[in-house]
Amino acid sequence: MKIGVFAVLLLLGGLPLTTLGGHSPGRLPRTYFYGSEYVRIDEWARSHGFQTSWRTPKDELRVTSPYTSLTFNVDSRRATINGVAVWLSTPVAYRNGAAYIAPTDLATAINPVLFPQKNPPRERVVTICLDPGHGGRDPGNREGKFQEKRYTLLLAQEVKSALSKAGFKVVLTRTGDSYPELSARPDFARRHKADLFVSLHFNSADSAGARTVQGVEVYCLTPARARSTNARGHSGGAGSAVGNRNDSQNMLLAYQLQRALVQRLGAEDRGVRRARFEVLRVAEMPAVLIEAGFMTHPVESKKIYNASHRQQMAQAIAAGILAYKRAVEPTAK
Ligand SMILES: [Zn+2]
Repeated sequence: MKIGVFAVLLLLGGLPLTTLGGHSPGRLPRTYFYGSEYVRIDEWARSHGFQTSWRTPKDELRVTSPYTSLTFNVDSRRATINGVAVWLSTPVAYRNGAAYIAPTDLATAINPVLFPQKNPPRERVVTICLDPGHGGRDPGNREGKFQEKRYTLLLAQEVKSALSKAGFKVVLTRTGDSYPELSARPDFARRHKADLFVSLHFNSADSAGARTVQGVEVYCLTPARARSTNARGHSGGAGSAVGNRNDSQNMLLAYQLQRALVQRLGAEDRGVRRARFEVLRVAEMPAVLIEAGFMTHPVESKKIYNASHRQQMAQAIAAGILAYKRAVEPTAK
């Protein structure tokens, strides 16, 4: 099977690595405008047997199959996959009656979710490394007497309990009020042979509307040369990092966690986003960073500080990891 893929690539001649895979959009005609490379969404959809229709003309395009529903908005980076928001690196464009998407976004944001690889390099998902954000000298966000580092550790302990019950082996990058260096955290995961790395955080908004901003975000590493979608910098270098080896699995894991958190908690869906956070850049295994709610929001913060609500968050995170495991392990029941 691998030989077949290589043969096709040789015929096409030097496609960028981001278009590798059985569902490569490589054979769709490409066009260039606004300084970006694009393919027509309706042509991509047809190549997979999907239907397209304008929900709102020149504004929102819907792509459907019996099992799948996607939405794309013209001039926007926000798309949805089966009702869950996913941020693209390049806005969807509109020209002469058709909507266009960047092939990099198909390869790194859409295809990994719709067509998960059944034989990724790590075919077993057994050991999970949880990383409670901040700690020790770094409190993270502070709202009055509430410090982020305390709640990320409590949540990690609750996620560990939920994952252990589901049969996973779980390791934590810290179990007390200490501060492992950022690069040491994925390294700890590697030394413990973790199959996944999940960093846990709580968010804060610092704009004038801080008290109204709420919801869940799950980050995975920005693909090489693509634009990040986090609100606050952390852009890092735009080249390829160690973590980019797992672009497809990073995306699938982030999607399954976002979906589980939004659906199970009824939280506002702020979407799967991209950032070049250090813990994501250096992780050798699929890795994500969860922002599980806003400490600045008057209602959401109370949930973060509440043990029984955090246990629901923990159950949702465990469910997302199980959904990922089912998607990538060909033999998982
Ligand atoms: Zn944090």
